[in-house]
Amino acid sequence: MISTATDVINLGVGAPDIDTPAIAAQAAMDAIVAGHTKYAGSRGILPLRERIAERFAVDKGFTVSPDDVLVSAGAKLTLFCILSALAEPGGNVVFATPHYGGYPHIIRRAGLEGRPVQTFAADQYTLNPARIEAALDKNTVAVIINTPANPTGAMYDADLLQAIVDTITTRSRAVIVSDEIYSAFAYDGDAPSLGAIAPPDRVIVTDGVSKAYGMSGWRIGYAAGPRSVIEAAGAVNSQLTNCASSISQHAATAALTLSPVDTADVPRHRRLRDEAYAQASALPGVRAVRPRGGIYQSIQLSQAQIGTLRSAGFTVAGELLRRGGVKLPQDSTFGTPGLLRVTFSVPIPTLHEGMSRLARVLDEIS
Ligand code: PLP
Repeated sequence: MISTATDVINLGVGAPDIDTPAIAAQAAMDAIVAGHTKYAGSRGILPLRERIAERFAVDKGFTVSPDDVLVSAGAKLTLFCILSALAEPGGNVVFATPHYGGYPHIIRRAGLEGRPVQTFAADQYTLNPARIEAALDKNTVAVIINTPANPTGAMYDADLLQAIVDTITTRSRAVIVSDEIYSAFAYDGDAPSLGAIAPPDRVIVTDGVSKAYGMSGWRIGYAAGPRSVIEAAGAVNSQLTNCASSISQHAATAALTLSPVDTADVPRHRRLRDEAYAQASALPGVRAVRPRGGIYQSIQLSQAQIGTLRSAGFTVAGELLRRGGVKLPQDSTFGTPGLLRVTFSVPIPTLHEGMSRLARVLDEIS
């Protein structure tokens, strides 16, 4: 019998349960009182760009000048500005799938064609040079690498990144767009940055305060890379929004005095990752890969499970919500039928309850 749950456990949020650092909140209030409430320049205020350059050097081994930094209203908009700057008629962008839900939309709205490249559980959902090479052509303007990855938790080692860089730089003219927004959430050693590996004229690193600093609502993202691209992306930003909120920029300037590894509370997240993986791998009939980074556990359902869940005429996520009272994103978000994404950055009792609800539904349909 199908039980219809009345209360809902939400394991679908795309952000960690981290509070905005107190010094960032205070800096925002101080900025308001001081009257920093006007347009702030389309590339971002200088103190913030200086702080970003410092953090990139310390955290990523990526040396950039503040003049090579763009600040915009969130990493998503930053990515859009960068891709718009790189866009040309007939151009395409290569990226791994399962993928962050925003990529296909951002790419399309920038006037480019998206080229998702399948990754597999057996490779821990990482891209490899051969698969990237097969997707590249003379019209490829960018390859997006997301490490650690949403939704799979894939994290690329330096050797693999070097091999990928060699392939892209020798076989194409594409720029590497390295989306490192989850880089603080690394559980098995640090997440290497492409900024420290790729030639400076071929890489743009994007990041932001949304995840590691628990500031998704402040809407501050940023990128650093070749000045010509950053300038062109700044021009896009200027026409879309003029600038990111001046108050948020002051808050982010203060937040970035803190190390993202500290604010992200990596030991707590490592425990949550271990817990989520233990429970996911005990589910009947699924494939779960241990996330090496990020805040998500992916769970691939079997064809039989997908078929049964869809047979009532609902989506997979809709049926899990209806039967189990557990809320997850639609699998279509990630371009992969039957891929569930569990956010483990939640209180432990919430994670336990959500995972046991999932287990109950999957037991019921097995
Ligand atoms: N890149 C990835 C991989 C993400 O998961 C997200 C948000 O979920 C973003 C970029 C966008 O971040 P922001 O909230 O700063 O726009």
